[in-house]
Amino acid sequence: MSTPDLRSAEPVLAMDTLFDVVVVGGGPAGATAADDLASAGHRVLLLDRAGRPKPCGGAVPPRLIRDFQIPDHLLVARAQAARMVSPTGAQVDIPIEGGFVGMVDREVFDEWLRERAASHGAVRCTGRFDSLQRTDDGVVLVRWRGPGEDAALQQVRTRLVIGADGARSAVARQEVPGSAKGRWVFAYHEIVQTPAEPPAGFKGSRCEVHYDGRLSPDFYGWVFPHGGTVSIGTGSADKGFSLRGAVSALRRSVHLEGATTLRREGAPIPMKPLPRWDNGRDVVLAGDAAGVVAPASGEGIYYAMLGGRLAAEAVARCLATGDGRALAGARRAFMREHGRVFWVLGIMQGFWYVSDKRRERFVSLCRDQDIQQLTFDAYMNKRLVRARPMAHVRIFFKDLAHLIGVARV
Ligand SMILES: Cc1cc2nc3c(=O)[nH]c(=O)nc-3n(C[C@H](O)[C@H](O)[C@H](O)COP(=O)(O)OP(=O)(O)OC[C@H]3O[C@@H](n4cnc5c(N)ncnc54)[C@H](O)[C@@H]3O)c2cc1C
Repeated sequence: MSTPDLRSAEPVLAMDTLFDVVVVGGGPAGATAADDLASAGHRVLLLDRAGRPKPCGGAVPPRLIRDFQIPDHLLVARAQAARMVSPTGAQVDIPIEGGFVGMVDREVFDEWLRERAASHGAVRCTGRFDSLQRTDDGVVLVRWRGPGEDAALQQVRTRLVIGADGARSAVARQEVPGSAKGRWVFAYHEIVQTPAEPPAGFKGSRCEVHYDGRLSPDFYGWVFPHGGTVSIGTGSADKGFSLRGAVSALRRSVHLEGATTLRREGAPIPMKPLPRWDNGRDVVLAGDAAGVVAPASGEGIYYAMLGGRLAAEAVARCLATGDGRALAGARRAFMREHGRVFWVLGIMQGFWYVSDKRRERFVSLCRDQDIQQLTFDAYMNKRLVRARPMAHVRIFFKDLAHLIGVARV
């Protein structure tokens, strides 16, 4: 067995080192799992292929900042309002009372998370995951190729593996039945420099969400200010739809077509949690690898970090008991807390995002104070407020009226 190709600043591992867990993927899910497990005293290897930063709008809710102790300096902007824009250009501005939506720069944010895990004892390693094998005594061999074109295959020994290697995860494909059946939206955005003279209508403290069939037939377009830069993007599951054309149109409509383009990039966003996140033995998935992104909004960073935390808890239980069935606890715990919200968001997307008539109506519904309150509580704090039951009843009947066609859409 060859010595793993570790970053130069890291200790070289003894060839017979046995890790408790190897985390494949150092995004928000993997870095959180590695941090939690290393902080609890487990021997953790965090393997990431490195390279390009994750394409992402970078919007994060206050609950994430609180639960995962994100320091202020990682927030490059704070959005204090959201503007919803309909196909006919109707606008609904929603102030974010007493709070904000944070914006992070993923290149800096993810590296900070990985370094936090390292500071608590996780060993970092750069390389592209290749495969898993097992020895007769139940040890898992994780194989990867180090950086560089002709890098040789290397391997390390571990008891368990967390697959946090993002959408279309290689770990999931190899180890978890049913993972190839996931559904994805492809998202694309352009990062532009914020002009010195911001155009009319642009506000650095307001994010915009555009519901318009020309910008996406089944998702939405966004304009998220990040201080010195702006992320302008859209997504669709329709392979024939021109995402680049749509982003050009969106840039024209918000008068940012002339702004300097710094990056053009895209990536798939999973749209449905996978039916299984573990192999019942020694592998569990987290984050995009497990298909965990909120339908309708595409929000994934908070859910990835929570998924990483729940995977870490399941792994700790499995290490303590030796029972691979404990790994299934990660999905169970996640779905108990968020399954219903994901289900409702999935229905919302399927109903409201299908025609411009419905999108128009959806934006106009967002003028409703009850709906604003509920949506923001759900997004900001990841819980439905029980203090105002009558508001829920009113919303339920308003939605029902639209769903069954009593109200016109
Ligand atoms: C264009 C776009 C905009 C988005 N905007 C938002 C937003 O504003 N807010 C929000 O909450 N969510 C947003 N999302 C979703 C969000 O980016 C993801 O849900 C989130 O990054 C998932 O985190 P993760 O750790 O599971 O996966 P990832 O962030 O994808 O991290 C996976 C990690 O695994 C590593 N990796 C992958 N393959 C291998 C391999 N073979 N070997 C080793 N390492 C590997 C990668 O280097 C990466 O570090 C957006 C997504 C896209 C595509």
